[in-house]
Amino acid sequence: MRRKRLLAAAIAAVALVSTAVAAGSTATAAPSAAQQSTVVDLYEVLGTGTPQLRTKVASSGVDVVTARETTTIMATAGQVGALRAQGFEVRFLGGYAQDRNAPAEPRAAAADFPPGDEGYHTYAEVTSEVQQTARDHASIARLSSIGNSHEGRALHAVKISDNAATDENEPEVLFTCNQHAREHLTTEMCLRIIKRFTDGYGSDTNITNMVNSKEIWVIPSVNPDGSEYDIASGRYRMWRKNRQGPGTDLNRNWEYKWGCCGGSSGNTGSETYRGPSPFSAPETRAVSNFVNSRRVGGAQQIKTHIDFHTYSELVLWPYGYTYNDTAPGMTAAEAQRFQQVGRQMAATNNYTPQQSSDLYITDGSVNDWMWFNHKILSYTFEMYPRGSNPGFYPPDEAIPAQTARNDRAVDILIGAAG
Ligand SMILES: [Zn+2]
Repeated sequence: MRRKRLLAAAIAAVALVSTAVAAGSTATAAPSAAQQSTVVDLYEVLGTGTPQLRTKVASSGVDVVTARETTTIMATAGQVGALRAQGFEVRFLGGYAQDRNAPAEPRAAAADFPPGDEGYHTYAEVTSEVQQTARDHASIARLSSIGNSHEGRALHAVKISDNAATDENEPEVLFTCNQHAREHLTTEMCLRIIKRFTDGYGSDTNITNMVNSKEIWVIPSVNPDGSEYDIASGRYRMWRKNRQGPGTDLNRNWEYKWGCCGGSSGNTGSETYRGPSPFSAPETRAVSNFVNSRRVGGAQQIKTHIDFHTYSELVLWPYGYTYNDTAPGMTAAEAQRFQQVGRQMAATNNYTPQQSSDLYITDGSVNDWMWFNHKILSYTFEMYPRGSNPGFYPPDEAIPAQTARNDRAVDILIGAAG
């Protein structure tokens, strides 16, 4: 049954969504709900061939799912009306119908992923896996917590290096996953990196050399509260933000150029709500404090970074807040370096490489902060799939191939640390 998902996993989810919230939308007609409705559904905005047009769509407060010639959004009927009033042609894709105001349990703890997707790791499973890795590979893997989420979950960080317990003078590399709750494939990506570099040590020459010469940090889930909430009811909720109050979009909450440029929202109900102040979210604060702490003797030890997201199959580099290739803190030579390494990685996984703002403007994002504040060569990967089928929820059978697909790019990123 689950292998016959029709349009997006988002749409598969609708069959499970309570009929009460689904009322008002059918597969054939746009919802005719009142303009005040908080029910969001899936739509396609046509004619969005430029970053400026896509920024206009994104800044209207809708949830942009994927952006190209046409932009897939999740929006309320009222938001769609506003876009149409601005002249956009908007087509109903339907079948999602989630009520943003539906009551929720305060602290969700997921028993497992929805039926058929148990191959994904819940927070409890991530925790036991990283603990087991640290036990099995004590000399090269060390587990720590860089802080707690809003609901008090430890934010795990695994350090992989020879003599892991010692802070050696070696270039450092950082991988972060799951800033956005529903992007579960990214957590699996970080777990694969941990497994590959620990299990392969001593038998694979390439891996052994990388572990001996670098310090590799992996944070498998930056947003464990949101991730658990997304699955806790036994069906996917399409949740993106953290679980602090109305929820903050963690990737709009970073300090640099926070809220500067129409690339986030000040509206608490928005999917790109940036929070009341920079680093108001404990999760971004913890990761930024960790990165700040890696400045040793005045020199930032972390040289390169990937923040994994889904989906669209893209390799993105800063800046996101401006359409310009160069800006304060980004010389032409530095922009070229981003492009060169980005394209090199994209050649190995067949993703599309581009500057982040070529999609649409984002502000307060992790890559802009990492680069401007620390000169860390910082990328976003938007993983599988390319389009809205299967969207955020690929079946767990996709995990091995779609994470292994980035092995070479991960190696390039580690090599680029020097
Ligand atoms: Zn994301």
